[in-house]
Amino acid sequence: MQVTSNKPFSYEPLPNSGTVAYFSMEIAINPGMPTYSGGLGVLAGDTLRSAADLGVHLVAFTLAHRKGYFQQHISATGEQTEETQPWDPSDFCTEESARIKVGIEGRVVTVRAWRYDLEGRYGHIVPIYLLDTDLDENSGWDRGLTDHLYGGDTNYRLQQEIILGMGGVRMAGALGLDVNVYHMNEGHAALLTLALLERQLGGAPLGACTETDVEQVRRQCVFTTHTPVPAGHDRFSTEQTIRILGSDRTARLEHLGCFQDGLLNMTHLALHFSRYANGVALQHGKVSRDMFPDFRVDSITNGVHAPTWMSEPMRQMLDTHLPAWRRDNLYLRNAIDLPVRDILHAHARAKEALLTEVASRTGLVLNPRVLTLGFARRAATYKRADLLLTDPERLRKIAEDAGGLQILYAGKAHPQDIPGKALVRSVIETANNLSSDLLRIVYLENYAWDLGALLTSGVDIWVNTPRRPYEASGTSGMKAALNGVPSLSILDGWWIEGCIEGITGWAIEDGATDADEAESLYRKLEEAVVPLYLDVPERWAQLMRTTMAYNGSYFNTNRMVKQYIRNAYYPIKLVESTPVEEAAFVSDPFEA
Ligand SMILES: *Cc1c(COP(=O)(O)O)cnc(C)c1O
Repeated sequence: MQVTSNKPFSYEPLPNSGTVAYFSMEIAINPGMPTYSGGLGVLAGDTLRSAADLGVHLVAFTLAHRKGYFQQHISATGEQTEETQPWDPSDFCTEESARIKVGIEGRVVTVRAWRYDLEGRYGHIVPIYLLDTDLDENSGWDRGLTDHLYGGDTNYRLQQEIILGMGGVRMAGALGLDVNVYHMNEGHAALLTLALLERQLGGAPLGACTETDVEQVRRQCVFTTHTPVPAGHDRFSTEQTIRILGSDRTARLEHLGCFQDGLLNMTHLALHFSRYANGVALQHGKVSRDMFPDFRVDSITNGVHAPTWMSEPMRQMLDTHLPAWRRDNLYLRNAIDLPVRDILHAHARAKEALLTEVASRTGLVLNPRVLTLGFARRAATYKRADLLLTDPERLRKIAEDAGGLQILYAGKAHPQDIPGKALVRSVIETANNLSSDLLRIVYLENYAWDLGALLTSGVDIWVNTPRRPYEASGTSGMKAALNGVPSLSILDGWWIEGCIEGITGWAIEDGATDADEAESLYRKLEEAVVPLYLDVPERWAQLMRTTMAYNGSYFNTNRMVKQYIRNAYYPIKLVESTPVEEAAFVSDPFEA
């Protein structure tokens, strides 16, 4: 395609009918609904909250997860145990009368939907449909298929993915929704492409499908991948797919190249049927292109929903000085001029709220004047929760020099993640051995939405230590930044884009070994963080101000959803005669 530079570049208007259908295995919808496990679900929820604020025509599909993810308990010695979190969708949602059916392992399973109306700032509603198989006409096993988020084995998981992907497409049809974009948030929903292909064929056998049919499906689908860890991509054996999905479908997917090393790879399936795909930070896009060299993968960096994750005192302060921030988060850039005293005051109140919660959960009374670090995330081993504890003597010395140090930890290990559970235990053992009047290390139980909001807004520094390049993005540091809390982190995921040394936080330098990176972490604490914190409060407040202005104004879902609209859902087109296939990538930042 030739574009001459003097031609006017005009935008195609957004379509005035049609809806985006957003599919996600987990969505953090409401703090009272245990329908998410961590970062992926929180991102999905924040995406929908911003879509509602922006008035985007969008609906979402997920599963009801009637037994939740799990409630975490930790014993004094650091053993994690789990409890189910049963909840009743009728307490929060309205039941739709539509019923659809899906075939699973030769059985016919009936599915219903519960509608949750997510209302945006100006009253626009994004309906979220929670699919549910707990119906009298289903067998006992099938009634439990929409109970446990990430529970059971791979057989259970594949059956859930049939309900989410294929059931979701059919439910959208039964509800009469006019969907023109299907967005797969991670590979769990990839089977929606198969349902679309079958609809495209109108009852003809799958074997009759042509490249034109595939292309028709592809025009409707976009896909976001979320993990650079190969084991994080869902895969199912040929035996499983033949048994659960059926032999015709398995043969067709094999023919289309969606099997890798004898396994159905959900990421390949989603990529194969999508006209647009993206990773969730600039670097994650690059890592994904290396992992899937046959596909074009763009990048749209994650964000967080600002009003959800900003502390009440900080929101009030901004409402006074910069009220437009709620309507358009870009105005947070003007936080650069906020009065430093007001920022310090708002943060002190957020810290107080956090320390009150710590006291009520643990009985421990922490000191609001002492430098407080936060580290909370899923207890996966690559996140290296123990890196900060590598050299206890040195940490003790830092605490002494700083006039005290408080470290707050939280995080759940997946029930089947034995090394993750061992990591929780080891952090708690070290914390128990190391804690003194000067150095307090506390592991808080049951990391979830409410605790996440208190921690990211109430600590003084947010620490993140993943092993590169396994952090696709990370979003908790973005929540901290919105609250003016700087990060001290490994240069991975979003932090490569967000770190301005000494202005928005500090980078832990890349090292050849864990010990090298721990060394850099300690050195930054000793040489940069502690002296600045002990110095003049004004200088610390200036750091908080630049953190909020530079990173709060950008790493939010208000900006992110606009990027999805213009790059993924309804890409900018030259109004001349640009074919959709080419135009979809006009905005690819990595192509000349
Ligand atoms: C924000 C959030 C996450 C994701 O944060 P990461 O930086 O990716 O770890 C996970 N769990 C909860 C409860 C959160 O609030």
